[in-house]
Amino acid sequence: PPGLPRQTGEVKRVSPGVIQMPNYDIVIRNGKVADGTGKKMFAADVALKGDRIAAVEAPGTLRGDNEIDAAGKVVAPGFIDVHTHDDTALIDNPGMAMKASQGVTTVVCGNCGVSAAPYVRPDVGHWMSLIIKKKENLSSSFAAFADKVDAARPAINGAFLIGHGTLRINSMGDDLNRVATGAEIKQMRELLDQSLEQGAIGMSSGLFYAVSSHASTDEVVEVATPLGKWGGVYTAHMRDEGDHILKAMDETFEIGRRVGAEIIVSHHKCSGRSNFGRMKETLPHFNEAMKKQQIAFDVYPYVAGSTILRSDMLERADKVLITWSDKVPGLSGRDLKEIADEMGCSMKEAADRIQPAGAIYFMMDEKDVQAAMAHPGAMIGSDGIPFDAHPHPRLWGTFPRVLGHYSRDLKLFPLEDAVRRMTSYSAQRFHLAKRGEVKPGFYADICIFDPATVIDTATFEKPISPAKGIDTVLCNGAIVWRDGKQGDGKAGRALKRQEMQAEARA
Ligand code: ZN
Repeated sequence: PPGLPRQTGEVKRVSPGVIQMPNYDIVIRNGKVADGTGKKMFAADVALKGDRIAAVEAPGTLRGDNEIDAAGKVVAPGFIDVHTHDDTALIDNPGMAMKASQGVTTVVCGNCGVSAAPYVRPDVGHWMSLIIKKKENLSSSFAAFADKVDAARPAINGAFLIGHGTLRINSMGDDLNRVATGAEIKQMRELLDQSLEQGAIGMSSGLFYAVSSHASTDEVVEVATPLGKWGGVYTAHMRDEGDHILKAMDETFEIGRRVGAEIIVSHHKCSGRSNFGRMKETLPHFNEAMKKQQIAFDVYPYVAGSTILRSDMLERADKVLITWSDKVPGLSGRDLKEIADEMGCSMKEAADRIQPAGAIYFMMDEKDVQAAMAHPGAMIGSDGIPFDAHPHPRLWGTFPRVLGHYSRDLKLFPLEDAVRRMTSYSAQRFHLAKRGEVKPGFYADICIFDPATVIDTATFEKPISPAKGIDTVLCNGAIVWRDGKQGDGKAGRALKRQEMQAEARA
């Protein structure tokens, strides 16, 4: 397998009780397995064959031609980043170092209402720049897009949501400040239906964003109807994460109920200083609704968020950093307050002058972030934006930060539970069959890390920086990260809904 030295001629002497299984491709020895279920770690050897986990047995019992010594390390399932905008990054940047370096082996793309397919219009709005570098990588059908991903031979896997906002721009052009007509809704619904049939795993909406904020609840329901038929999930960047968050939660729950889809609320947060502490309201509100329908949410481990620059978000934020500006180069990483002072104008005026642009907003309460992350319904998603000149550190740091900072240092939850929230629970909620556990028959997506040293190194000042303590990462049996460097594994693939459903039934 790529990345490992070939065994030299010497024949291994096998002591009694050792099972010689020379047909294993890789054996990971002497590690402690955190199998993804949340169960207490146990010492075991893990054997891989092809793209699958072949055996998990008592330590010292498995041998192979290629062995990875995991003494002192944790052997976990590869992490699943459930909230990404990596749709076209898998094509443009197939090594996916920003994710592989964290132990991530699957990214769920197409969140917040923005996806790379199905999209036929030649003009691309700046809202689409959340996900694209080259517009050639947008595709008119999901099938064509998935083919592009597979052809790029990415290091890690992608699963894909279809964006309601993308469907809207595709069907309505620039005329977005209204509810879609019956004919437009029908077209969007048919495109979603076709995309799900071709392998998309669900639909995302971003009613917070201008492209979709005029959509009514009914519009979303009517577009999202095919989710029920295909077993697709519904993810929501809700209409409001601030003052009216409870109402926005109810709208999200209603949409899921009416279309018969399981819900994932995206990057759950209580945004803005006046809403600090309101997890005390939102989490019980989730608990009540979770009794009646399947609901989960994802969280990123930071008190700052990041998206496009919006002047209506400035007041809510304690501090705003610019991540990119098309009009004024050289602003990446700078504080908008300083830029405004230099320009001798208000922050709002400065924001208007540098548009279109992206920004990081410090707008959350640390206690809220911790309460959300530790909730039983929470899983981990980075929400990193791959092509930002000066990205939010979550792009490179999310998973090691949860393991090292929140689990080990702050003891917010045991390491096994941290791993569960990045692996098996995520796979269950997004129906990623045979992923997220270290178990025979499951895919050989593995992250070997040092529990004593694992930590993020990406900061708001220096955001492009691989984590420490991530030893070896394999995706579908191929090494994609080892000893601080990219491996040559190219076995990632576009995970398709129908294939995963068939595999779950088998
Ligand atoms: Zn979002």
